[in-house]
Amino acid sequence: MSQPETAQVLSLEDLVRCPRCQNVVRPIRPWPHWRKVRMAYFGGLGLALCGGPVILADGFIMIPTLMLYISAIGPLNSFVRVRPVCSRCSAELDA
Ligand SMILES: [Zn+2]
Repeated sequence: MSQPETAQVLSLEDLVRCPRCQNVVRPIRPWPHWRKVRMAYFGGLGLALCGGPVILADGFIMIPTLMLYISAIGPLNSFVRVRPVCSRCSAELDA
């Protein structure tokens, strides 16, 4: 399994030299829009703050839903924090 890198059909600008295995690899990148999703999340939280009286008036559906919504910030932050990794040795890359 030693194909030359040039034989593969890749976008050449997305190649990065891995500092650990010294291969020129195409990094495995996380989905690039998690930051936007987090901003939308905070926008939704601001909307919920504006609708506070309505939410607090209904303790059976709205407050548990709000709790679920707030608990989504942990996974969302971890998705934002994921960095691109080497596709050969899965070392984290700076690119
Ligand atoms: Zn590597």
